[in-house]
Amino acid sequence: MHCPFCRHPDSRVIDSRTSDDGLSIRRRRQCPECGGRFTTTETASLAVIKRSGVVEPFSRDKVISGVRKACQGRPVTEADLAVLAQRVEEAVRQTGVSQLDTNEIGLAILGPLRELDEVAFLRFASVYQAFDSLEDFETAIGELRADRAKAGAADR
Ligand SMILES: [Zn+2]
Repeated sequence: MHCPFCRHPDSRVIDSRTSDDGLSIRRRRQCPECGGRFTTTETASLAVIKRSGVVEPFSRDKVISGVRKACQGRPVTEADLAVLAQRVEEAVRQTGVSQLDTNEIGLAILGPLRELDEVAFLRFASVYQAFDSLEDFETAIGELRADRAKAGAADR
């Protein structure tokens, strides 16, 4: 990439570091022309194929805006949403795919959202999985109860 200071087309890497989560590399670079130093972050590219067929880069902001509505009126903070989006990104990156569709992102959201807030989870799941009857809600709530009982048993 071009030097952000003088637009020189080349730069020299003076330091490389892998991030703590192992999902990105930060490189400290220096421009041989003006001596300016800057940092680049390298991550595997992750593309999202929308229902319309349009491909766009994965965005944590899109994940957050996708779940924000389900979290309305719930005790969920912006920081919670940021952590959720990070967990979703980590989960999809760890599967090793380079592209996925919005449906798969919805699936990746369900787990972390459920841990964050069960009501928001039910709202999100009802839209995403197109619940169309009370029975669908009852089934989902039944699963939440069963898992809670299991978790309770494990605590004892
Ligand atoms: Zn420069």
